[in-house]
Formats: sequence, C-alpha cells, structure tokens
Amino acid sequence: MSAHQTTDAATAAWQDAAARDLMSLGGRLALLTRGEGSHVWDADGTRYLDFLGGIAVNSLGHAHPVFVEAVSRQAATLAHVSNYFATPQQLELAARLKELAGTGERGRVFLANSGTEANETAIKLARLHAAKTGRQDAVIASLHGAFHGRSTGALALTPKAAYQDPFRPLLPGVTHIEPTLEALEELFAGGEQVAALVVEPIQGEAGVLPLPEGYLRRARELTTAHGALLILDEVQTGMGRTGHWFAFQAEGVAPDAITLAKGIAAGFPLGAVVTFGDASDLFYPGTHNSTFGGNPLASAVANAVIQEIQDRDLLANVTARGAQLRAAVEGMPLVAGTRGSGLLIGIALTAPVAAEVRATAHARGLIVNAPTDDAIRIAPAYTIGDAEVAEFTSTFAAALEEVASRHAAATTEGNPA
Ligand SMILES: *Cc1c(COP(=O)(O)O)cnc(C)c1O
Repeated sequence: MSAHQTTDAATAAWQDAAARDLMSLGGRLALLTRGEGSHVWDADGTRYLDFLGGIAVNSLGHAHPVFVEAVSRQAATLAHVSNYFATPQQLELAARLKELAGTGERGRVFLANSGTEANETAIKLARLHAAKTGRQDAVIASLHGAFHGRSTGALALTPKAAYQDPFRPLLPGVTHIEPTLEALEELFAGGEQVAALVVEPIQGEAGVLPLPEGYLRRARELTTAHGALLILDEVQTGMGRTGHWFAFQAEGVAPDAITLAKGIAAGFPLGAVVTFGDASDLFYPGTHNSTFGGNPLASAVANAVIQEIQDRDLLANVTARGAQLRAAVEGMPLVAGTRGSGLLIGIALTAPVAAEVRATAHARGLIVNAPTDDAIRIAPAYTIGDAEVAEFTSTFAAALEEVASRHAAATTEGNPA
C-alpha cells in the first residue's frame, strides 16, 4: 500500500467516526492533533499556518508556555469549588477586568463559560433593568447581521433565518434594526419602550463589518436619553483583539455592560460580563449563577494571559501587525479591500468566491475562514512576527492567484472563439 492510500484510509476512518459518533453539525475540515505557536498539525503530519486562531480565541497561539504553566499549576492546586466559595484567582480576574475596562469603583463582574452564556446574562440584566424602571414590556434591540450566540435567548438577538427558523418560537420582547444611524434614530423615535440596545462594535460573523462612523456615540446618547442600557457584545472584539483592550475604548463611549469570551483565556473556556455604574446594582442573590463560571482554573489562565499581554506589550504588536497585514493584502488578486481593526481583519473579495479561497488556502497549508460568500476573515495570534506575516502573505497570495486563474480559464473556455 502506498503512503497515499494509508493516508486516505486513515482519513476515511476518522471521518466515519465523526459521522457515526458526533451530531451532524458540519465543519470537520481536518483531524488536528498538535499545535505550537501559530502552527497546527493534522494526523498526517501536514502543517498549517493558523490565521483563524480558533475563531479569534487563541490570542497567544498554541501551547504557549504561559498558558501551559497556568493550566498545569492551577490544575495541580485547585480547579473547581462551586459558587458557594470565592477563590483568589476569581477575585484577581474580576479586579483586572474592572481595571482594564475602566469601570472605576462601581464596576461589577460576572464570570461564565462562553460568549453565549455571557450574552444570556446580559439579556437577564436588561430584563432586570426593565422591571426596575417599571417597563416590563420594554424590548431588547439588536442589529441585523449580528451574532450573539446559539442558545434560545442569544439566538433571538441573532436575526438570521437559517439559525432562527428551526427553533421558533424564540424569546419574545426582542426587536431588530438595520445597522444604520437612521434605524437607530427611528428605534428611539417610535413609541416602543427600549430596555437595552445590544451591539457588537464590529460584526465579526457578518464578515468583520464595522458600525457606521459615530454609531456608538449616538447609541450612547439615545440609550441614556431614553433610559435604556447600552450593552456591547465584545465577545470577539474584546481582550485586545482590535489593539485596544476593548473596542469601545477607541470610540470614547462608556457602555452599561460588555460581554466577553473568545480570547479572554486564550483557549480555555471562559466568558464574562462587566457592568458599569447603576447597571452593577441590578443582579442580587438568587437571580443568576453558573456552576462552572468563575472557577479558579479558568480564572488563573485568564490572569496569566492578561499579564503576558501586558508584559510583552502585545497590544502594540496587534496594531502594528494588523496594519502590516492589511497593507500586504491590498492589491492581491480578487481583493476589493480590507475591514476591521487590529488583528480582526475582514478581506472583501471582488466575487463570491470566499469558500473556494478558503479551501484553496487550506490545501496550501493556511487556515482562514469564510464568514460570508465574499469575505475572508483572519484573526491570528497576538504573538505573530515577521515570519508568520511573510508565510501568510505568500501562501494567501498564491491561493488567490490559483482561484483567480481557475476562474479566468473557466471564462475563456466558456467563450466561443
Ligand atoms: C463567538 C461569539 C459569540 C458566541 O460565543 P460562544 O463562546 O461561542 O458562545 C457571541 N457573540 C459574538 C460577537 C461572537 O463572536
């Protein structure tokens, strides 16, 4: 049997196992077995440059010594206790998040396990706010193009038919508006009471789409004027991804709450809600909690990750490498332009060939993703240097050239001579 046949048989075996044992939810592109820095290896030993970073999660790359040490040390000390108890790791993380977010004394932190769970907590925060202000019927508003998670509450805030329709009826009391300044004005000009506006500073799953210029400032003015909470879903944009600790800090607005997850513990599951000002007084004993949320293991990893980002000044690297990557990509074949901030980058294509670009890059040993038909997203580790930028640039350009020439050939063949 040739090496190729062995590989084919091994691939068929794990794909069969996945089909037999895992729920059929798609996405089995390779069987990954190891990672180091910005590279991962599959079971055949093929090496990939990982520029998706577990969807904006692996902020320190793979198997980073700081991550490994934090997990190992805390696992060997105290991993879980229940929320009847506090731990030093949890208290340290809450204080760090308040400090980074600039909440001042009146900030409060809830620790959860995922972005979805953080957003569920934010929905309950909005309901408590509505009840406190005597407006039980007030709606929670979110934006078209948004992604806030897949649980039934977070899904209600995620207005995409393919995600929502099989699961109706969804959480009531939710309304959706277009991500425009006009729609924002209309929402508050109408008679409807609004409990909260939930927005992502950059819509990651929609293809890394920024909000219109001035959107968050106007959203802050209108929510304040109408007694609504401004809740920012920074699950993807937070924890340094955009070159700021949080994307709202670049806009000079102070939200009532932010939700976090993805990069917060660089690959260890953890979510968080940070509240500001009066919103910090809404929850009280008995209204919310989580068995695993805030466990000392996840908290210790987040503390170590935050410390490493600070010690190495990685936010400066995020900003510089982001600019470098965007400049490198502009002018490549099929590229219409770039969007995003720091190391959350959307690459707009001139044709709806994102799936083909993604697959071609994968075949050439580069992991990126295609959140929409005509956009590629990259979200590499904050630790990338010249070598990773150079490898990405040459591989991605080659993948784009391959796709472009395939389409040019198809067009020529299709043309009668
Ligand atoms: C990924 C994501 C979520 C969901 O987070 P999970 O950890 O997958 O539950 C929510 N909001 C945004 C903006 C996200 O990018």
